[in-house]
Amino acid sequence: MTKAIYPGSFDPVTLGHLSIIERAAETFDEVVVAVLKNDSKQPLFSVSERVSMLEKVTSHIENVKVLHFEGLLVNFAKECGVNTIVRGLRAITDFEYELQMAQTNKALSPDIDTVFFTTDVEYSYLSSSTVREIAKFGGEIDKFVPKSIISKVYDKYK
Ligand code: ADP
Repeated sequence: MTKAIYPGSFDPVTLGHLSIIERAAETFDEVVVAVLKNDSKQPLFSVSERVSMLEKVTSHIENVKVLHFEGLLVNFAKECGVNTIVRGLRAITDFEYELQMAQTNKALSPDIDTVFFTTDVEYSYLSSSTVREIAKFGGEIDKFVPKSIISKVYDKYK
């Protein structure tokens, strides 16, 4: 059985993330979406909120499960019995950071590899921080996040 782990902040999940999850789920038998609890960042949504939003928007995909983790990704991947990390690439600006992360993870754990899915062109400009910024100023986010979470994002800025 092929398994992959897709880690990220998902603060909040966007249509760009969802596209990567759907495509990874077609490629691998099981995909673990892993929400990072990072105490050095001040997230808009708590880990449990991010997990439940991801569960909601991936409920139509049978082979996806959503978990959360703290600490080193390679350790969590091992705990899950996974040795493939999935990440998304939008533009060349993602490349340097993602390459560094992939090589670091490989150095920490040589049996773990990272594979990259390129973004759907229509989401190549899209990030969680853009969504947060637009919602903060009352702009429309319906083109950027799954329908079921739109009101949850606006609620954070009420
Ligand atoms: P992180 O804080 O780990 O970068 P993110 O939630 O911002 O977490 O992103 C998780 C992964 O999804 C990263 O690999 C990122 O490049 C990718 N990603 C984010 N937005 C998009 C998008 N619009 N299209 C494709 N991949 C994306």
